[in-house]
Amino acid sequence: MQLALNPLASRQVAVIGAGAGGLVAARELRREGHKVVVFERGDQVGGTWVYTPKVESDLLGLHPDRTTVHSSMYQSLRTNLPRESMGFRDFPFVAKEEDEERDPRRFPGHTEVLRYLKDFASEFGISEIVRFETEVMVVDSVEGGKWKVKSKSKGGDGVDDEIYDAVVVCNGHYTEPRIAEIPGIISWKGKQFHSHNYRNPEPFRDQVVILIGGAASSADISRELAGVAKEVHIASRSVADEAFGKQPGYDNMWLHSMIKSAHDDGSVAFQDGSVVVADIILHCTGYKYHFPFLETNGIVTVDDNRVGPLYKHVFPPALAPSLSFVGLPWKVVPFPEFEFQSKWIAGLLSNRIALPSKEEMMEDIKAFYSLLEASGIPKRYTHNLGDCQFEYNDWLAALCGCPVSEEWRKKMYLEVSKNRHARPETYRDEWEDDHLVLQAHEDFKKYTLNGITKK
Ligand SMILES: Cc1cc2nc3c(=O)[nH]c(=O)nc-3n(C[C@H](O)[C@H](O)[C@H](O)COP(=O)(O)OP(=O)(O)OC[C@H]3O[C@@H](n4cnc5c(N)ncnc54)[C@H](O)[C@@H]3O)c2cc1C
Repeated sequence: MQLALNPLASRQVAVIGAGAGGLVAARELRREGHKVVVFERGDQVGGTWVYTPKVESDLLGLHPDRTTVHSSMYQSLRTNLPRESMGFRDFPFVAKEEDEERDPRRFPGHTEVLRYLKDFASEFGISEIVRFETEVMVVDSVEGGKWKVKSKSKGGDGVDDEIYDAVVVCNGHYTEPRIAEIPGIISWKGKQFHSHNYRNPEPFRDQVVILIGGAASSADISRELAGVAKEVHIASRSVADEAFGKQPGYDNMWLHSMIKSAHDDGSVAFQDGSVVVADIILHCTGYKYHFPFLETNGIVTVDDNRVGPLYKHVFPPALAPSLSFVGLPWKVVPFPEFEFQSKWIAGLLSNRIALPSKEEMMEDIKAFYSLLEASGIPKRYTHNLGDCQFEYNDWLAALCGCPVSEEWRKKMYLEVSKNRHARPETYRDEWEDDHLVLQAHEDFKKYTLNGITKK
């Protein structure tokens, strides 16, 4: 049952973060007639895509008092999604061939993505509503369903207190490292890094490196390291036994099972029985959701990387729709999904769209959690959408009354995944889905006129 709709309303909304999620949330909220302030602790928009050579004082990223760096970008990073499918739907991420400074590649480097996000912010006038170098310290619910937002600006004296009707949390989730637990690691003498603090391969030159993890960053970084390190050993949970051993095309890279234990003589033993004496362990083991500013009296918790309870990864039923999260799902095409989630939030806050009752939302969440449990999927995979992402996006689109994901975008995601698997080294420069690129560009004509994006 959907609740009856009230008259349309314009709300005062605080958006936390000016990365891709916060930028599109701000745009959608303003399109819907809300008044928006975006809080950004950095000095520019772009979030993750603001590359910095700086690393944290604790390279493992565990010490609570360490100096922190937001972005986990490394110097050589090129996108692992093609620009056509990566961009926001009505602001296509097309190559700007006329500008020599720009990177026209289909899978561009990180600077090009940052420029695209800056173009987006300026096209839609978002930068003007961002309070830069202003960190949200506390978000606390107050009477009447409103929110107190305490923020601190760089150089300012003291903390500002303001009241908002709603808060949209877009603070990103690639900053707080998760590391692998390794028996005996305390007495192991080598160096440890988390990929959050990986920028380039120089610190690994001539070293024997063990890299833990089997996801995108581990694939890129291991190849880059093989060019300078003495040996690269990859410990991965998600590899079939027959793939273990020396990697084809490399004379200094090996694939192993997970690590069993580390020892004070510098050796590291793997579950498959192999042993390596290593200089460095690099944890490419992902990140934790982290909302240090959020005070909800225990209504929203993070338990084994499940942020919950959340209806469809966005709303805690007891606090909906005034508190919402953009960008929690992973293994997705992020920007267009942020856009769908933001449209939903904006439409709900204005009463154009209705939510089910709190009880119905809780029932839905319980059923979802039971399904995960029955399928043997651990809690920490709650927000891994992967194959379900387009179904999820289309569900959101139907609620918002906007067009569902384009067929070419869905097909391109599958084609690129296949190509990445078949040509892990070269998929960014060799592909066979040009017909989908053409379809995408045909579609983009709706939004671009002589290179100028229609508002
Ligand atoms: C190494 C790496 C490679 C990736 N490659 C791709 C790719 O190829 N293609 C792709 O589509 N996606 C990729 N991603 C995913 C990427 O994270 C998303 O594309 C997207 O940029 C996430 O946007 P976001 O707004 O959710 O978070 P972020 O970009 O992290 O932005 C969050 C913002 O919130 C701000 N903030 C945080 N806390 C506060 C606070 N308390 N007060 C004020 N401001 C705050 C931060 O400063 C930051 O600017 C990659 C991610 C990583 C880490």
